[in-house]
Amino acid sequence: MNSSRRKFLQKLTLSAIALPTISAYPFSIYAKQNLDPDRPILKVALMGLGGYAERVAEAMQSCQRAKVTGLISGTPEKLEKWGKKYGVPKESRYNYENFDQIKDNPEIDAVYIITPNALHHGQTLRVAKAGKHVICEKPMAVSVREGQEMVDACEAAGVKLLIGYRMRFEPNTLKVHAMRESGELGKIKFFQGQTGFKIGDPNQWRVDKTLAGGGSLMDIGIYAINGARYMVGEDPIWVTAQETKTNPEIFKEGVDETIQFQLGFPSGAVASCLSTYAMDHLDRFYLLGEKNFVEMQPSTNYGPIKGRTKDGSLNQPHTVHQTTQMDEMAQIILDGKSPIIPVDGNVGVQDMKIIEAIYRACETGQRQELDLG
Ligand code: NAD
Repeated sequence: MNSSRRKFLQKLTLSAIALPTISAYPFSIYAKQNLDPDRPILKVALMGLGGYAERVAEAMQSCQRAKVTGLISGTPEKLEKWGKKYGVPKESRYNYENFDQIKDNPEIDAVYIITPNALHHGQTLRVAKAGKHVICEKPMAVSVREGQEMVDACEAAGVKLLIGYRMRFEPNTLKVHAMRESGELGKIKFFQGQTGFKIGDPNQWRVDKTLAGGGSLMDIGIYAINGARYMVGEDPIWVTAQETKTNPEIFKEGVDETIQFQLGFPSGAVASCLSTYAMDHLDRFYLLGEKNFVEMQPSTNYGPIKGRTKDGSLNQPHTVHQTTQMDEMAQIILDGKSPIIPVDGNVGVQDMKIIEAIYRACETGQRQELDLG
């Protein structure tokens, strides 16, 4: 075999190991799940059977290391329907009153909390007390205090706490991360993160402060905050922010519609971000280094994620984000694997610190210093 062909095949094999090809969503839910017969499987109960949980449940049918084995919901009809659809027996279906009983269920290793934001804290504490690992959707909580209590409770119970930051396992995102780490982009100078959509139904929990904990920043702006951190590769040390509200009827007190914020990093790099519930098609990252730039659009939706540098497109294979995330999280929990970009509760608390500082900056008009610890 000539050396260029060998190199080509080695490259192919390596990328096949790092990024297993996963069938595209949607797929037949009746297809038998292709679980790895040689390694332990993460047995996951889904809590909150809403829109995103459905996407996760479908995607998990293609997981090799994780399986839906439990369901938690306040709606008996949903438990029945989902139980039949995903093969979860009656004894592994719970409601919000009795789910503490999961502690006696060996068919559940972890609970994936996919409920409105303000419920994550109390639910995490109960799951930890039941001795099960927690995977919690973003934002992990609605305050730094709550987030820290979640981290402490999981630590005390000896269980893992992971945040549903799916972009941290996305191939094009990881490619940019690797390019920055290798120095290919040069010294990073600037990041732009623009994330938003039009909210639609004005009666949904996302615009109810008591359930959402805030507005667009908690829900979609958090992707720009995340992006700023993992794209620049540093933790911000200050933030300034400005809020704009055009529809105070939908976006009541404490529910932000549009926020622009700026972050400063120790190296001198700066970020300029926009979070909104008032604009569609806003999903763009731009990272500028001294040697090259990366533009990603879309940058955080369900994909395919697209990106280019001055030399051409990024071209990493598309994987179903939730399938990849759950297979990776199974390895973090069961094998002790360290992800390239961390997804643990401490990272979630740091993001909550940035969110609180952005809200304070909007209120006071003053730059807020940040110490993410
Ligand atoms: P949703 O409204 O579709 O589902 C929420 C579920 O929680 C519903 O089944 C609802 O019945 C249940 N629920 C339980 N208690 C409730 C209560 N007191 N009030 C209202 N609903 C209650 O919302 P969603 O889009 O699935 O979002 C759920 C969580 O997932 C949020 O934290 C959100 O930020 C997160 N999310 C993450 C992503 C991602 O890409 N990582 C995408 C969407 C949503």
